[in-house]
This record gives sequence, structure tokens and C-alpha cells, in this order.
Amino acid sequence: MNILVINCGSSSLKYQLINMEDESILAKGLAERIGIEGARVKHETTGKEEVVIEDTMDDHKAALKIVLDSIAHKEYGAVADLSEINAVGHRVVHGGEDFAESVVIDDAVMKAINDNVEIAPLHNPPNIMGIDAIKEILPEVPMVAVFDTAFHQTIPAVNHIYPLPYEYYEKYKVRRFGFHGTSHQYITERAAEILGKDLSEVNLVTCHLGNGSSISAIVGGKCYDTTMGFTPLEGLAMGTRSGDIDPAIIPFIMEKENLSTEEMSNVLNKKSGVLGISGVSSDFRDLEVAAKEGNDRAQLALDIFENRVRKYIGAFLSEMDHCDGIIFTAGVGENSITTRENVAKGLKAFGIKVDDEKNNVRGKEAIFSTEDSAIKLLVIPTNEELKIAKETQRLIAK
Ligand code: ADP
Repeated sequence: MNILVINCGSSSLKYQLINMEDESILAKGLAERIGIEGARVKHETTGKEEVVIEDTMDDHKAALKIVLDSIAHKEYGAVADLSEINAVGHRVVHGGEDFAESVVIDDAVMKAINDNVEIAPLHNPPNIMGIDAIKEILPEVPMVAVFDTAFHQTIPAVNHIYPLPYEYYEKYKVRRFGFHGTSHQYITERAAEILGKDLSEVNLVTCHLGNGSSISAIVGGKCYDTTMGFTPLEGLAMGTRSGDIDPAIIPFIMEKENLSTEEMSNVLNKKSGVLGISGVSSDFRDLEVAAKEGNDRAQLALDIFENRVRKYIGAFLSEMDHCDGIIFTAGVGENSITTRENVAKGLKAFGIKVDDEKNNVRGKEAIFSTEDSAIKLLVIPTNEELKIAKETQRLIAK
């Protein structure tokens, strides 16, 4: 069985075609600048050269047509015919309180995803466009929605209700939802396997550190708390997102700089985080280089990022009676040896000890704590696409 996994952003579309027999990637790629000048699809069939197709793409449907043509292309395609795509799994950012699990997409599901646009105005519309486009181009193919928020639906009220007038929750669903759920779930299940523990018995702190970053507290294999909130803006300092700040700063800066709500939201989402602090870049590789060259603000950005990771790990350890492992994943978590080292070395009070030699890995599964560390430290590369494909296979088999 071949499953196409689709992840639509506002102007981009990532995809992978996965053969579920051996979980191998048959083809993958990225459509960029959808609806903007300079649109292109980068497509790579495993074992063949990457091709770049430059063409106008007015919308996600136009992009998907090029993607599907590429997948079944005579020269650089992965399959002879599109009928070899047996199902499509869509990443959907916001399932609100409607979905605690992945679901087969039907009209009722589409209505619920549409209803959640109000609380996810930036994220759900491109996901809906992707689903609608596949429905038009491949009407017979079953589709499954896998939600970023679903894994976090087990978070109890004590961690999902904000200290605001309760009526805002009742009227507008203002509550913690959490994001990156597919990734936190994937590494939780993988960690249980690696640690030889029953999923229902495993307690973890899972750190997804990438461009966007979030940490979750996993108790008994289920999510108990997470740093992202009503939107992905809360929690850690990120590439360009502020994470936690005093909420009173927002009206203060809006008044001082004469900003609209949209402009302020743009500052908090796109101009803050390690980019805002450093003025150098949102990319952690650039920051590491700049800091080494003596750029103090790049160093400060890294210090603030790492310190917040550490603070949340400490906070989440206080929410469990024991912890089997602290897991690092995503671009920074999998690859930045110094970030892992600096975070873990600040956790000595918990009896956590890093083995520098074992920590010298990038993008590979590893346990990098010492034998006598009170809590194990692990790197587990995330694989959201595979998790989405497995969910899709499981649900359409029902
Ligand atoms: P997203 O999926 O949220 O866009 P990723 O999980 O791909 O993000 O993470 C991207 C981040 O990972 C970038 O900031 C990049 O600099 C960082 N990264 C990738 N490789 C390294 C590395 N070797 N050292 C430090 N940071 C890295």
C-alpha cells in the first residue's frame, strides 16, 4: 500500500509518498511560493535526481496537480499511474476540542475542520485547500486527517484552562490546545520501545526544538502538559516567535509604536524569538556561527533559548512522580550538540548527567546520558510523515 502524506502551509506544500510494506519513501518534495511569483516544485523520487519544476501555481490545487504529475512522471516519477496511490493522509493543524484522534475525512469532519478556522485562522485554511484539491483530483481515494492538536486533548483542565474569566473558555474556546502533537506522540511511542517500557507506564519530557519549538510532559504515555497554548505562540522562545512574555507588553508596545492588532501579531510571530533578540537570523546554525565569531546578541539569543528549554523541563519534571527520559527531537534537538549539552548541563540539580562522547551525534537515535544519570537523555529523530502515514493506514483498514 502506498500512502501520500500532505502538509499544506499558507504558501507551501510538503509531501511524501510512502510504501507501507517497508515504510520506505518512494518520493518526496516541496511546492513553494504557491500563489506568488517564482512558484516551484522540488521533487525527488528515491534513487533519481531531484527535479525543480518552475510554473505558475495560483493555488494549492494547481500545485497539487504538478506534484501528482511529478509522482507519476515517465522519467522522474515514482509510480506508473496515480491509481498506485491508495490513500492520502493530511496534516491538519487544528482539531479544536472535536478531535482527540485522527479520522477518516467525510462531510461531517470537513464541517468540524471548517468550524475550527475561527480559532486557527492562519493554519486550517491551507489544510482545507489541500483536502479539497485532492477530493477534486483523486475523488475515489480515501483521505485521513491527522491533527497537530489531537495528542494534547488528554491535557487535564488544570493545565488547559487559563487564569482568565472562565466565560472566555465557554464562549470562545480560549484554552490550551498545544501543537506538534504528531511529533510528540511519535517520539513518545518510540521512546517507550527504546526504553523497553509499556506505553501506559512511560513518563517523559519530550522536547521538539526546531524553527517552532514546544515541550510536553508525558505521564503514563499520555500528554499531561505542553508549552504551546491557544496558538503556537506560547511557551519557548522560538525562531521568530516570542513565546511567553508579560501580556501587558502587548498593549504597551501597540500604543508606543502605533501598531494594529495584525501588525502586533506579526511582530510576535515573525519578528521576535531568537531572530528578534539577535537581529542576525532565526536559523540556529547562523546563530551558532555568529556567536562563535563574537556576536554577543547571537550568544544572548542562544542563551535565552536554552535557558527557557531548561526552565520548562524543570517545570514539567515537577508534574510527574518519576521521569524515564528527556527526549530531544526536530532540527535543533536532533542536530545541535551544543544546545543539548548546555540544556542538560544546567539540569544537575535533578541528578542529570551528560556523556559528552555519546552526545556527539546528529540526526540519529542515541541515549546520551551517563550510566549513573538519574534520568536518561535521548535523541530520537522525529518522523511526522511516517506517523501520519501509519495513522492513515490504520484508519482506512477499519
Ligand atoms: P521546522 O520543521 O519547524 O521548520 P526543523 O525541525 O526543520 O524546523 O528545524 C529547523 C531548525 O533546525 C533551524 O533553525 C536550523 O538551524 C536547525 N538546525 C538544523 N541543523 C542544525 C545543526 N546542525 N545545528 C544547529 N541547528 C540546526
